[in-house]
Amino acid sequence: MAIYHDQVITLRARAYRDHDTLLTVFGRKNGKFGAIAKGARRPKSKLTGQINPLSFSVVTFYHGRSNLDTVTEADLQQGFPRIPEDLERLGWAMVLADVVDQLWPEREPSEESFLVLLSALDALNAGRSAATVGLAAGFRFLAIAGFAPDWNQCSACHEPFTAGPIVCDVELGALYCPNCRAAGSPVQQRISLGSLRSLQYWLKEHPKKFGQAEVKGTMKEELQELFFRYLLHETARPLKSYDFLANINRLQ
Ligand SMILES: [Zn+2]
Repeated sequence: MAIYHDQVITLRARAYRDHDTLLTVFGRKNGKFGAIAKGARRPKSKLTGQINPLSFSVVTFYHGRSNLDTVTEADLQQGFPRIPEDLERLGWAMVLADVVDQLWPEREPSEESFLVLLSALDALNAGRSAATVGLAAGFRFLAIAGFAPDWNQCSACHEPFTAGPIVCDVELGALYCPNCRAAGSPVQQRISLGSLRSLQYWLKEHPKKFGQAEVKGTMKEELQELFFRYLLHETARPLKSYDFLANINRLQ
């Protein structure tokens, strides 16, 4: 039994029993895990407003016999208040939280992923291009989690890409240059060399720069389609946040 502290981003929160809240958090030192904030929904709780979905807090946890650790203190560091002002921003923030929630193993720390998520929320809150921020962070998560191909070379001839279109076989996790493009698998998509260059840049750029170089038009569309193909391939069921974002894109 022990007390410990961590910096956490709250991925989701739901009401539990009369006054409690069940949380899924992503901790800088402890990775993703579930916790309970007892009495957090009482009007005078000291936890009120300190640990909300899509916010960054410093939290003290109590690890007892239950498999859910208990929040004993929480201090909000950044609530990202401008994210909900724009539906596309909110949609991408929800997608990124879902990606971590669904793809990350419990209690597996990843300082890099923590910084990617924190920087992405910061960039969304600052009003940078939501899709560019979401794609840069989203493809980075897929790469860190090992769910993406080597974007730097053709899976058949192993040469770096010098021309497009590049054929992406999501099912096999393979990429082909125009000379090697394989026929067959139904889950294939083509992207331009320009789109691939954006993707390669995102995997190397400092997370604090997410969204500074905006992608638009066809590049935005094909990279968005590719990202969700990989994501749907890796998650057992479609993400609710994906439907939300898809509806917003349809309205725009
Ligand atoms: Zn090739």
